[in-house]
Amino acid sequence: MKINLAKSAGFCFGVRKAITIALQTCKTKKPIFMLGDIVHNEEVVRQIQRAGIKKINRLSKGKGKTLLIRAHGCSKSTLQKALKLGYTVIDATCPMVKEIHKIAGQLEESGYQVIIIGDKLHDEVQGIAGQLNSKAIIIDKLKNIPLAKIKKIKRAGIVVQSTQNLDNVLKILDVLRKYIPQVKFHNTICKPTRIKQDEIKSMPLENDLMIIIGSKTSANTKRIYEIAKPLNKNSYWINSAKEIQKSWLENALSVGITAGASTPESTINEVIQRIKAISSY
Ligand code: SF4
Repeated sequence: MKINLAKSAGFCFGVRKAITIALQTCKTKKPIFMLGDIVHNEEVVRQIQRAGIKKINRLSKGKGKTLLIRAHGCSKSTLQKALKLGYTVIDATCPMVKEIHKIAGQLEESGYQVIIIGDKLHDEVQGIAGQLNSKAIIIDKLKNIPLAKIKKIKRAGIVVQSTQNLDNVLKILDVLRKYIPQVKFHNTICKPTRIKQDEIKSMPLENDLMIIIGSKTSANTKRIYEIAKPLNKNSYWINSAKEIQKSWLENALSVGITAGASTPESTINEVIQRIKAISSY
């Protein structure tokens, strides 16, 4: 059994940075809280919680407390509320997400209707929309383009959730360009996502079996799986080594492995060890 691990498998720099900030902060400041999950991976969240950071789902009185803003960022109003409530805020938002915030804000200021191509309920998309004074239009899929609204727009500024699939984005963009006279498009898919997506366009074709590791809550892992599956039907999306079934490995001579941007190295190593153990029977 040949095991081929994608070069880009696992943490991107944004996730690595957020975890480092979280772990450093809890050495010096306590009590410390994170609003929701710092990144979309259960193992990482457990690690952060073990280090002493408590997860909360809503803000309360913040005097004497530190609040960590997660890698996906948050809306302006959440940040303002946290400061008003007295929290000391430590911002672990990925710089690439901050850049999208900045671009969206500039587009709005210049009079463009901001359109975000991304998953409506994803924290990152909510955070981008939450930088604006006006309401952004959020489009997740080609079939969900709100044509009636779109036809009324004269100038649109478009940004993209950092982990979207470029091919889908370009299809949506084509339709928007048909109806909107002036379109300013910013491809804000981040570099780590682009590299991962490029790799996954060839790996499923070069391996008998493809394993994609990441939480079911991870948008970028979902995207990787969606690209892999049509290329190789023996593609599986798992969150941990114990989900691997022996039957998947029958007759497979090579297995390609990749992992989402918030999947820790320890999980990737466990998967490799389990594949080695099964294939050596
Ligand atoms: S996937 Fe991209 S935008 Fe998201 S945390 Fe990683 S580098 Fe930042």
